Parts: sequence; structure tokens; C-alpha cells
Amino acid sequence: MKLRSFLFITNFILFNCDLAAQVAVPKGDDISYMGSGGKLNPLQAIMDIRHYTLALNVDIAQQSIDGYTTIDLLLLQKTDTLLFDLIHFYKVTKISVNNKGCSFYQQNDEIFITGNKGFKPGKQKVKIEYNGKPPVAVCPPWNGGFTWTKDSNGNPWVAINCWQEGGKLYFPCKDHPSDEPNEGADLFITVPAGLSVAAPGLLQSISKPENNKQTFHWKTNYTISNYCILFNIAKYKVYSSVYTTINGNKVPIQFYVLEADTAQGAHVLEIRARDCRILEKYFGEYPWIKEKMGIAYVPNPGMEHQTMISYGDKYTFKKVNGQDYSDNLYHEFGHEWWANKVTNKDWAHMWIQEGINTYAEALFFREEAGERAYDSVINIFKRKVKNEKPVVQGDEVNTKDIYTGDIYVKGAFFMHTLRYVTGDEVFFTTLKKLATDSMYTYNNFVTTDDVEKLFSKESGKNLKHLFDFYLRTTNVLEVSVVNTGFHEYALEFKNMIVDVFPIDVMTDTGIQHLMIDKKKIKIKSAFPPVIDPDGHYLKKVIE
Ligand SMILES: [Zn+2]
Repeated sequence: MKLRSFLFITNFILFNCDLAAQVAVPKGDDISYMGSGGKLNPLQAIMDIRHYTLALNVDIAQQSIDGYTTIDLLLLQKTDTLLFDLIHFYKVTKISVNNKGCSFYQQNDEIFITGNKGFKPGKQKVKIEYNGKPPVAVCPPWNGGFTWTKDSNGNPWVAINCWQEGGKLYFPCKDHPSDEPNEGADLFITVPAGLSVAAPGLLQSISKPENNKQTFHWKTNYTISNYCILFNIAKYKVYSSVYTTINGNKVPIQFYVLEADTAQGAHVLEIRARDCRILEKYFGEYPWIKEKMGIAYVPNPGMEHQTMISYGDKYTFKKVNGQDYSDNLYHEFGHEWWANKVTNKDWAHMWIQEGINTYAEALFFREEAGERAYDSVINIFKRKVKNEKPVVQGDEVNTKDIYTGDIYVKGAFFMHTLRYVTGDEVFFTTLKKLATDSMYTYNNFVTTDDVEKLFSKESGKNLKHLFDFYLRTTNVLEVSVVNTGFHEYALEFKNMIVDVFPIDVMTDTGIQHLMIDKKKIKIKSAFPPVIDPDGHYLKKVIE
């Protein structure tokens, strides 16, 4: 998702959201306390989720849902109790495990399922029937819930967002980033006839209207984060084309656009194809070639919903080298690599998803408008770094605890520093390896240490201290410059960020590219030397 304070338009949305918070949310329905992830409950640590099936009827008039979720899982050891997450807004009416009814109880935002003889290790099929009124989204996509609204033609328009709260916002699940359903998910969503459902994977079928309702069956076979297992409903028209990937595979691009906006359809498809070409160049082939490249227009700025990225920026574009560019469209799409394909194991490491993906925006400018344009984007990131708390705070952290602007901008600026320290060839090759090697993608997860070890190995440098310094502390490189004689200066590096690191110093003879391996060095210059003139480091110079 896009950093909310990035653009004027998102600030404007935030302002509106604050109004909505005062007006639209009834007392007792406040979910602002709710996060996702954090310390994994031992009862959930013993289960490996394999697949989710959601079968839900959406009652738009009543703003409610009812139906069931089936969870296929592998139980790693015997247990008396199975634990799932589902927020307290819903009433669970019936639960079976392997087709046998089970006793259960709901407590706060959890469901505890108990069996007389306990549950044995191995495959379990858990079916949970439930109904209720989902929370209304206060500030989507940053604060989740359902959005029940109408398009400009008066047709119902429903959107879901649950990044911050997790999938438990509307279906029972193991709500932790470290366990995605390896075999994907099936969604059977029933809506009033005439409306469409946009969801992950491939559309398998649309049932014939019955009682003026139709069921859309969507299926993804890919592993997927639980906050991406969701759908949007509208009177959509589908604009399609075919994209040929960097490896020659053909993937459908499908834009679920509102009827009133169909004139925009072809243009958005062209932008998507161009953006994909750039992202593929740096990060490898589009990740979901067996399914689709989907876009759904929604009544919020948009989210990284796998294979059906949502978009709602009212078709506002800026010009980059004469071409239309939407950082909203580009950013959310970049998440197909950084979030959906390369997924952090815990929210503690979310800078990998948001920081590297924000860095990818600078790469768009590098590609389309050159290195100077890249530098200007990097400088914007740098100016926005707050450095109030570390980017990585521990190893098991809840979404609410980690969400700061620095996971975007400091994370992105750190990639710029890493590019300088490792050099272009190693940096870009390693970044692509991180996005393509099976060790780091799809069913596997990544941590900050994984990224560090990979860059250390590929660069032949021990970068642990650099990663720790900039990601786990709020320290910046400190260097003092002291005039020690005629045209002579002593530079003292107060903190060494790597055993040997490069730094540019501008003197009267031009820019000198130095490798620093000790704390103090002497340098000759007719004027006080300028340290790191192009700004590769977050730093403080004491003169
Ligand atoms: Zn994002």
C-alpha cells in the first residue's frame, strides 16, 4: 500500500477519513485497536495452512455477510484445541472438523475449537459457518473494513481492505504473515445479479441467476497472503489485453473498470504493460504467469491485492519524460514482486516489502528519465525520513507497531546507500536474485538477515553492521571535519558503518572517491572538503 502522506491527494483522503471516523462509525464498532501478526500463538504454530475456501453471500442492502470458510491444514502435533482468528463482529453458528461436528467458543477475536479426543497430527479439514455485519472501513486502505457505496450511476460498489487487521476481519484464518495457504484459495461469492465480483486468480464460473443472485467462483493456485484473499463488487466492465512477459509467456491483463470510466480502460492497460516491462527488467518475470495481471477500480487509493491490484486514484497522472505515470498504479503493481512474491516472514521486516518497493519507484524514473531523475526521487525519500524509531523493531511485531513512513522512505533510501556501497553490478544483480531465487520467493519468506546475508555474500563484504546501523537503530554516519593546517583537513569518522566503505569527498581538485578503513584521515583542499556531496548516506557532518 502507498504511504499515506506521500501525496497531496492522499493527505486529502486522510482528511476525509478523519471526518468519516467522527461520523460514520457507530459506537462499539471501533476496530482501531486491531492489528495483525505479532507473537505467534503456540496453538497456531503447530498448524501449516494449505488452502482456504470462502463461500459467502453478500447482502448489500443489510451490509452483512453469511456463509462459511473451509480451512485445509496440516497439524504438526496432537492438540486438544484448534485456534483461528475471526473478529468478534461475527457469530459462528457451526463448526466441523473432517465432517464431524465440534464444540467451540468465541472469545474476543478468536475461535477455540475443542474435540473430545483431541486432534491428531496430519491433514485436517475445518469448516466454520458464520454470519454478521463486517466493520465499516474508516480509512481504507490503511485502516480496513468494508466500504459500502455507490458508483456515479447509482450502482452498488463494495470494497474490502484488511491489511492492518488481517484476513480475520471477514473470514476465519490463521492471521499471521508467516503462513500462507500453499495451495491457494477458492472464493465463491454470491451477489445480486447484474453486479460483478473481482478477486484473485482465475474466474472459474458465474452461476445462472437464481432468486436474482449469482455466484462468482474465483480460484488461485498460488500461495497468497491472507490480507490479499478478498474481493470487490461493482457493476464492472472488463477491459482485457495480453501481455508477453520478459520470458515470452502470455498473461492476460484484465481491468475491472466502472462502466462510467470505460474510456480510461485501454490507457490503463497500456500503462500497466509499460510499468511491467520496467519492473521485469529489474526484478524478473511477472510473478503470476499462470493466472492474470488484474486491476480492479475501487473507492479508495488502492492496495496490493495479488493478481487483482486495486486502484482508485481517479485517473490522475503526472508526466515523466512526456508519458503518463501514476505512482499509485505503479507502486501497488510493484508489490506483485515486493510483498506478494517476496514476502516478509514477520511484519517486523516490512521494510523489505514497502522500502524496496518504494525504491522501485526511483528505478522507474531512472529507466524513463535518467540517473538525475532517479536522484531527485531519492532526495525526496531522504527528506521524508523521520528517524524517530528504528525501521526493524525486533522479530515478532504487530502491524500497528511497525507502520511508520520510515519503512517506506528510509527503507528505500537504504537501498540507495546499498547500491553505492556494493556498486551497480553487484547491487542490481543481487536485487534481482532476491526477487527471483526460490529461496526467497513464493512459499518461502524473508527476513532482514536474509537480505543482509545475500548482499554480503554477493558483494564479498560483511554488511551486517551496515544493515543493523541503518535499519535497527536511528544512528546516522557522523564525520567531523577539522582544519589542521594550510589547505589541510582531518576527517574523523565517529562511527564505522562497514569495515571498509566508500565515500565521496569534494575538494578543490574535484570529487575524490575514497575507501575508508580507519577512523581518521587527512585530506588536502583549498576549501573545507564536502563530505558525500551526492548524498549516498544519511549522515551528520560536524565542522
Ligand atoms: Zn506499498
